[in-house]
Amino acid sequence: MHNAPTDYKSQQVAVQNVTILGATGTIGVQTLAVISQHPQRFKVFALTASTNVKSLFELCEKYTPQYAVMLHADAAAELTAQLKAIGASTIVLQGESALSEVAAHEEVDVVMAAIVGAAGLHPAMAAARAGKRILLANKETLVMAGNLFMQAVVEGGATLLPIDSEHNAIFQVMPSAKRENLTDIGVKRVLLTASGGPFRNASLAELHAVTRAQALNHPNWVMGPKITIDSATMMNKGLEVIEAHWLFNAAPSQIDVVIHPQSIIHSMVEYIDGSVLAQLGNPDMRTPIAYGLGYPDRLVSGVSGLDLLKIGRLDFCAPDPIRFPCLRLAYEALNAGGTAPAILNAANEIAVEAFLAEQIGFMDIPVIIESVLSASQIEAVTSIEQLVAVDTSARQSAKRWLKDQHLNMHKQTLKVVIK
Ligand code: NAD
Ligand code: MG
Repeated sequence: MHNAPTDYKSQQVAVQNVTILGATGTIGVQTLAVISQHPQRFKVFALTASTNVKSLFELCEKYTPQYAVMLHADAAAELTAQLKAIGASTIVLQGESALSEVAAHEEVDVVMAAIVGAAGLHPAMAAARAGKRILLANKETLVMAGNLFMQAVVEGGATLLPIDSEHNAIFQVMPSAKRENLTDIGVKRVLLTASGGPFRNASLAELHAVTRAQALNHPNWVMGPKITIDSATMMNKGLEVIEAHWLFNAAPSQIDVVIHPQSIIHSMVEYIDGSVLAQLGNPDMRTPIAYGLGYPDRLVSGVSGLDLLKIGRLDFCAPDPIRFPCLRLAYEALNAGGTAPAILNAANEIAVEAFLAEQIGFMDIPVIIESVLSASQIEAVTSIEQLVAVDTSARQSAKRWLKDQHLNMHKQTLKVVIK
């Protein structure tokens, strides 16, 4: 809506150097798929991954970046040896600080922030401080440190483009790319759409019995395991409510969630005159990624156009706070403010890990988060260091819950055996 795209066909654009944080993940790979279609426009400068040497090696072979970063030393040594064997010139770096280095490097123009979880915070902050064009997929950065991150974007002179499909949709239909007071620009509220996940129609009893495999089977989107579980619990939508708060300067009361099972409308903005503007498209992350890469131009993404006749109908319903308590918990954390969202995020990461490891049930996830939140002291946010400490302590608290629960279950089993 804002910033009418320039004529991309006649435009000569300088080649932009791109760092992809989390290159081996689903967003990383889709970013490379879009970049591959525009070799005259983008050059891959750095690719990063945590442990997957095989995938990062293949990507380095194909895209010949200047730098590759592995989180762990062993993985970095292995990648170095493999790249040396094929005579590749890519320099391999290792460790957390190297992630921030390649995000803030003076030769980098664009940073795709697609690491999953709290681990994405430091490199995203580094990109913001260094004034890069940041394509933000890592929503956890905004959940944990929304005010500090938005401040770093302004102070560093960075350009922030949301990649999460809902926020990308809202960004596209907002009247201004600037973060303004919503009432001043005629916006009444933002409406985040949610697919409802695989258990949209499941009963509470069925939700208690959900398995790992069922929860990993999302109906509309192919995503990494953590966000897939978040989508099944609807914590993903909760994290997105917090993300929307920081990105668009929206009060919690100005952010609503509506279930839309087809995932064709990616989100909407309601104006004070009664108009509702929506962005539609097939559920494919290459669309928001291409939007972020090309902005304000439009780039070919490889995504096919919408076949509305085939889709036929678009449905909507309200989310159920009883069956999906994670959404309620996220609103509560946002309303509590300060360090509450960082605590919510850390407890959720531990709970999701435990569910994926089949240590807890699906409906234990919100129980852990609520118990960690209610046992924690909420403070005003003062620094990234404080948030890192809060994150660590919330993780410990969640792990203690898991241990106690395990002990209780053990005792229960013993009782049964003794009887
Ligand atoms: P993924 O699990 O597929 O990939 C995660 C990437 O992060 C991998 O490259 C992995 O090597 C790297 N990584 C993991 N832990 C790390 C650590 N501790 N340090 C450094 N690197 C680490 O995840 P994804 O689905 O691509 O999601 C990435 C981010 O994008 C998440 O924050 C997610 O919420 C967000 N997002 C994803 C989608 C989607 O469709 N997949 C949509 C919207 C937002
Ligand atoms: Mg999303």
